[in-house]
Amino acid sequence: MIRRSSLNGDERHLRLREIGLERGIAMRNQMFTGLQPSGDGLHIGNYLSAVKGVLALQETHDCILCVVDYHAITVPYEPGALRGRTLTPATEYLSAGVDPDRVTLVVQSDLPEHVELAWLLGCLMPLPKLEQLPTYKDKKARYGSPRFGLLAYPILMASDIMIYKADTVPVGKDQLPHIEFTREVVRKFNQTFGETFPEPQARLNEGAYVPSLTGNGAMSKSDGKGNIDLADDPETIRGKLARAVTDPARGRRSDPGEPTRCPIYAIHACFTPQAMLDEVAGGCRTATIGCLDCKRILADQMIDELAPIQARRAELIAHPETVRGVLAQGAATCRPRARETLREVRQRMGID
Ligand code: SF4
Repeated sequence: MIRRSSLNGDERHLRLREIGLERGIAMRNQMFTGLQPSGDGLHIGNYLSAVKGVLALQETHDCILCVVDYHAITVPYEPGALRGRTLTPATEYLSAGVDPDRVTLVVQSDLPEHVELAWLLGCLMPLPKLEQLPTYKDKKARYGSPRFGLLAYPILMASDIMIYKADTVPVGKDQLPHIEFTREVVRKFNQTFGETFPEPQARLNEGAYVPSLTGNGAMSKSDGKGNIDLADDPETIRGKLARAVTDPARGRRSDPGEPTRCPIYAIHACFTPQAMLDEVAGGCRTATIGCLDCKRILADQMIDELAPIQARRAELIAHPETVRGVLAQGAATCRPRARETLREVRQRMGID
């Protein structure tokens, strides 16, 4: 039987929460985010935006962080390399302070339910919608003859989110079209088979803007020379900062500068307490502080903040069984929820 909903997405979500409350279930908002098993560690730009966003959300939301290894095989890849990479993002997030007692970390391929739901949802969506998505067009241009998995991966991403009925999805700007696509899938399903899923809301990873040390745009994984990695040791951090560009007006030590033109100052703002930051800005404008001193102060602040993260990271790398245990526990937590959603979907679609 086909049922159409008269509620919009936000009204539907509120109704689902009310239903939960009527049943005595206190619902917290459900957050879902996918972590790429890229094998590269995080840089401080990732830490200050994506990771700190999760650290804030773990206080208020039920959070699922999912290592999306099935997404990683939609483009050419090395099987041997992929195998080791699934632990990397989980290790990085745990090191950075994600609390496994409050956040569920899981590997996508441990839950085949994601793929089954993707197939069911894929049978609803018209092909041209998928072909129009910008990441598909980009990757098609980059890798040539596209595979079915590359075209279908937004459906799998929608499934990852919907199988936990997530309503909050932290993403970078480039992923916004995929969240909008997921909202379309939700609307299509709810209109066709009855009220089942909330429409997820994208939450932009808008933490601090962290410029590249080269002065060219933001820190990014593709700009290796401009990054400071979370794993960089103190000597490496000091070396990278020493080579970083500054305000070009400060050609000599005695030339006054303007901190707002300097990437070092923007990074200072992420690590340095306000009073010290004001001193640095004043010293730059009056040339009473040199760029080397300014960078040394930043290095000290950064090294202090990263030290506990790096200590936890070293411990987790020495004991990968700890991370595997967290991921196994995550799969055990997610499995009944995923199965329950699949049962409901199958029933609504007449496959039970
Ligand atoms: Fe940049 Fe600091 Fe040099 Fe000013 S003193 S130009 S803020 S590095």
